[in-house]
Amino acid sequence: MLGEFDLIARYFAPLAASAPGAFGLSNDAAVLDPAPGYSVVVTTDAMVAGVHFLPDDPANLVARKLLRVNLSDLAAMGARARAYVLDLALPPNLDEAWVAAFVDGLRADQDEFGITLLGGDTVKTPGALTLALTAFGEVPTGTALTRTGARAGDDIYVSGSIGDGALGLKALRGEIVGLTETARAALADRYHLPRPRLALGQALAARGLATAALDISDGLVADLGHVATGSGLAAEVEAQAVPLSTAARAALTADPGLREVVLGGGDDYELLFAAPPDTVAAIAALAEDVALPLTRIGAMAAGTGVRVLDEAGAPIPLAKAGWSHF
Ligand SMILES: [Mg+2]
Repeated sequence: MLGEFDLIARYFAPLAASAPGAFGLSNDAAVLDPAPGYSVVVTTDAMVAGVHFLPDDPANLVARKLLRVNLSDLAAMGARARAYVLDLALPPNLDEAWVAAFVDGLRADQDEFGITLLGGDTVKTPGALTLALTAFGEVPTGTALTRTGARAGDDIYVSGSIGDGALGLKALRGEIVGLTETARAALADRYHLPRPRLALGQALAARGLATAALDISDGLVADLGHVATGSGLAAEVEAQAVPLSTAARAALTADPGLREVVLGGGDDYELLFAAPPDTVAAIAALAEDVALPLTRIGAMAAGTGVRVLDEAGAPIPLAKAGWSHF
């Protein structure tokens, strides 16, 4: 493995070449100027090998997931993405080819999302490979979406489809039987490669449609619980309204017990938001504009907690309400 300065020069400085404020990664810190009238939005996520990704996951996909989970948080706030900084703690057995593939993944997503590396740090660790990324976005001042503004009677919407990431992880572990190869690959892809809903988040903020929003990373029920608690309300979800992909529907048909994985599994990186009932037409227009399904799955109500109702209107007991890190 190359030394720290050679690693930076060969692999990371090229990722920062288009950012004047990065100074070629040769200064003590970077400079980031938000556009006039915008506020900076900051988020960070860490991933540990064996905990947040599988040790043999391809390095380019690990890089893209690390970046995209952060971009998903920017999307949740209604921000557009600008730049990121990166900390790597590398175990001694990691080779240069891993770093090269990791950087390839970052470059692909920098091109896709129009962002740039701004700085970072590389250290050695006696422990597991550990990656931390901090992303910077910007939002017109005063328009950032938050989790806390939902009102009783607001409709609850989710983007895209729910459950694919969690089902993809189970499929990769060989824990789902009877899937076609196409369905298995589709679910695994959603696990490896989140789709941060940046255009949706920015449009929700710009049009003032959402009273509360977040991205679903810990599981639909757990994250909706954050909106309910933050807004001082209860939330009620109709399980059959939760949108499923073709692959997820096939998995659930084969094993109805997987419904709990869909509702509680996490790794969705879809946006969940609350909006007043009189915005139905505006939400439908928004879905068309961002070319993404937006599905009403329930409503906010007075009270506390999250209830998920089955087809008959009976509450579904949820043993595992969502991912908790501790
Ligand atoms: Mg989040």
